[in-house]
Amino acid sequence: MTEIPLQQHIAPSGEQMTVRDLASCPPPERWHDWVEYDAKAWPRKVERHYEIIPTVCFNCEAACGLLAYIDKETGRVKRFEGNPYHPGSRGRNCAKGPATINQVNDPERILYPLKRVGKRGEGKWVRTTWDEVLDTFASKIHAAIVEGRRNEVMYHVGRPGHDGYMERVLGAWGVDGHNSHTNVCSSSARFGYHIWCGIDRPSPDHANARFILLISSHLETGHYFNPQAQRIIEGKMKGAKLAVMDPRLSNTASMADYWLPTWPGSEAAVLLAMARVILVEKLYNREYLRRWVNWQEFLAASLPVPQTGFPNVEQTFDCFVELLIDLYDEYTPAFAAKESGLSEEIIVDIARQIGHAGTAFAAHTWRAATAGNLGGWQVSRALWFLSVLTGSIGTPGGTAPNAWNKFVPAPFRKPSPTEVWNELLFPHEYPLANYEMSILLPYFLREGRGKLAAYFTRVYNPVWTNPDGTSWIEALTNEQQIELHAALTPVWSETAWYADYVLPMGMGSERHDLMSQETHAARWIGFRQPVLRVYKERHGEPVTFTYQANPGEIWEEDEFWIELSWRIDPDGSLGIRTYFESPYHPGQKLTIEEYYRWMFENSVPGLSAAAAKENLTPLEYMRTYGAFEIPQEQAPVYTLNERELKAAELEGALVDERTGRIARNGTTIGVMIDGKACEGFPTPSRKLELYSSTLKDWGWPEYAIPGYTRSHVHRSAINHERGEYLLLPTFRLPTLIHTRSGNAKWLYEISNANPVWIHPGDAERIGVETGDLVRITTEIGYYVNRAWVTEGIRPGIVACSHHLGRWRLETGLGTDRWASALVSLGRDCDGIWRMRYVEGIRPFESDDPDSSRIFWREGGVHQNLTFAVHPDPVSGMHCWHQKVRAEPAHAGDRYGDVSVDTGKAYQVYQDWLAMSRPQRNRPDGLRRPLWMIRPYRPATSAFKRTS
Ligand code: SF4
Repeated sequence: MTEIPLQQHIAPSGEQMTVRDLASCPPPERWHDWVEYDAKAWPRKVERHYEIIPTVCFNCEAACGLLAYIDKETGRVKRFEGNPYHPGSRGRNCAKGPATINQVNDPERILYPLKRVGKRGEGKWVRTTWDEVLDTFASKIHAAIVEGRRNEVMYHVGRPGHDGYMERVLGAWGVDGHNSHTNVCSSSARFGYHIWCGIDRPSPDHANARFILLISSHLETGHYFNPQAQRIIEGKMKGAKLAVMDPRLSNTASMADYWLPTWPGSEAAVLLAMARVILVEKLYNREYLRRWVNWQEFLAASLPVPQTGFPNVEQTFDCFVELLIDLYDEYTPAFAAKESGLSEEIIVDIARQIGHAGTAFAAHTWRAATAGNLGGWQVSRALWFLSVLTGSIGTPGGTAPNAWNKFVPAPFRKPSPTEVWNELLFPHEYPLANYEMSILLPYFLREGRGKLAAYFTRVYNPVWTNPDGTSWIEALTNEQQIELHAALTPVWSETAWYADYVLPMGMGSERHDLMSQETHAARWIGFRQPVLRVYKERHGEPVTFTYQANPGEIWEEDEFWIELSWRIDPDGSLGIRTYFESPYHPGQKLTIEEYYRWMFENSVPGLSAAAAKENLTPLEYMRTYGAFEIPQEQAPVYTLNERELKAAELEGALVDERTGRIARNGTTIGVMIDGKACEGFPTPSRKLELYSSTLKDWGWPEYAIPGYTRSHVHRSAINHERGEYLLLPTFRLPTLIHTRSGNAKWLYEISNANPVWIHPGDAERIGVETGDLVRITTEIGYYVNRAWVTEGIRPGIVACSHHLGRWRLETGLGTDRWASALVSLGRDCDGIWRMRYVEGIRPFESDDPDSSRIFWREGGVHQNLTFAVHPDPVSGMHCWHQKVRAEPAHAGDRYGDVSVDTGKAYQVYQDWLAMSRPQRNRPDGLRRPLWMIRPYRPATSAFKRTS
């Protein structure tokens, strides 16, 4: 290709720049002084000088690299672009990355710590100091710890944004207080993976795949959206075929070779039918199954075959395969077609293509079907079954357990795990819950199972995000149940409104964090840093705390927790302070720079050498480039189960003759495979557990092998003639971020409505057209939204994105006015909660002239308030899909109306709780299988019930 010279572009060397140069990022050697003409000064040529400092995007979990362009004249960030030195995102971002600049400059943002002065939820706030906040919480937490009320301290996180930091803080405090958003997000998907291989997330190597199967809309919105989307397209460009299972014609489905619009909840039936085709047609990887599946345990368990009963089979591999075919005999293509609505031919065709792709079959599911349905975890379990059959676990072009493509450096001094167990998080009803039973907290508090002395919500908005948000309002306004609540948040939220303190925390460019995600077959770390602080320090302005460099007094969590920990244990007598003392200057308070410096110097293979090559320290290297990929020779990424244990690891180890398990000091560390001592997988058998003794022993013997659970929204439960439909409320928009993009004007300009998708045939039956108001009635209430009639949704299903419908209760305070409607919200005399628009989104006056140019008026309708909790009895995941009635709006209904009966919501909670199988009186006394992971893991002794 011929390069076409353009007009001269500014460059220190004065050379002529070209199209190609202009398309590239400035080279790092010029990042300290990058010069551009000021576009607004055109046609005059006015130079602007920028310092470019890397950081990491905080607008979804993918952790893409960003470059902040800091204007040297104003000392402010001018814009954000992609960081080409970031191995995951490689210089590219989605719309939300550059929109970070909107969030930084948002005229509505919270600049100072605020303290409530009226009643909770009354909306009266005064500015307070960080000192006052720290002292208030330190004394409350100190008292809880010394008085033995450790379970009354809880940290509840929505978007973690870092790896391991908070677990260390909570460990140092000795509390079992880590709560998360995960059971409204991914608990089910995780459980399906975890029960197979001991690791709870998948990492597909899309770029090298021959066939890709996605169950959700990854290209446009899915997990690790931008980094994985890049690699899916690369795989396609190299010839891979793409199939997308999604009831909605997402942008992803529209790019696929095969769109598989299954009836929601039938996905596992389809995947098991594909597995059966692969088995029957001998397309499976025989050697892989023989070596790595726990088939001996499977045979020893003598599972009954439907119709024929208990088989009497020889304990051989061939008999195992025959039995497997018998066990899955009912999953014929015809059965799967009946359940899903797909054709038998397409099911067989895709199964064969997966079989032929072999070890280059990449597959992924996250949220989507797993998050919508009762038994959603069977979907990820059945999907992994296909990966196992093809032997594509952790192979080039296959799908690895995520821990193989992720790197979390160890910090200095790890606290001992706490001896306490918090039943508010892991109650006896849900011993296998993959994450905390977060959605049930309001009911547990109401039932007197505990109370909270100090509650932190961090980038978490349960009032808006969780099902049955009004029950959250009832809990958050009860000062007996929650004595002190701080909302640590970068943006106003519906939940912060009910807090005692609203504590402004930084965006991705205003804080430190260390990130590593399974974006592809590699291991990398990304360093999020407060760019204005780095800029000031480079220019000789010392900064003690990050809030001194950020706008107003916006702080960062990392420093907040160090300060708080020192105040909880000022003299070190509780043994807490020691974890927050400098590893370089004993006895002195740890600085945030020292925390990361120590990890970069000691815990990241290859970083010191890479830094030395450029005459930099490891910390300087990370401050300069913002990311580092661990060399594969130091951290390999493929087939790690095959790693041979070293002689030192085997010293003192014993091998169990029957199972091949290798154990040392009572801990299983590997497995013998064909005479070789291999690391294997972190499961009880160290193999892939097709047969799960855990499920059998913990109350669910019928789920001992992958199966199909009929969803609570199975087709047979929906009667269209009675106006019933399945509501799919889980889909994401590529341009919004759940609950914290209300401060990004560009994003709301693009996406500002969430109409209800309805198929033309259904619209005719209901009697609505696009734009008409439609009432959607759930089991506990209803909402009123506009209809959007489209063939992009399966008949019988209506769908509504969960991203929109933000609200505020005061004219000029609360959730950003770019995004929120002013509403009235309260209980009627009949006890029913009602929300009604007082005023939609309107232009407003501010320092940003764009705020007076807002043209959108309806900001969407909130639907999660009208959903009761549906905790899956095994995984604990909230099952989002709803059976609803869809009908034209009633007389008097208005756009945005919401009505909820929390009494009914409590009844539904009890109905679902009754489906659990409590494990309180086990002979071994365990609360939970010891091998199963927990985000914060207490000591082994805490797993044993003492009363
Ligand atoms: S994919 Fe996520 S991390 Fe990457 S730029 Fe978009 S919002 Fe930021």
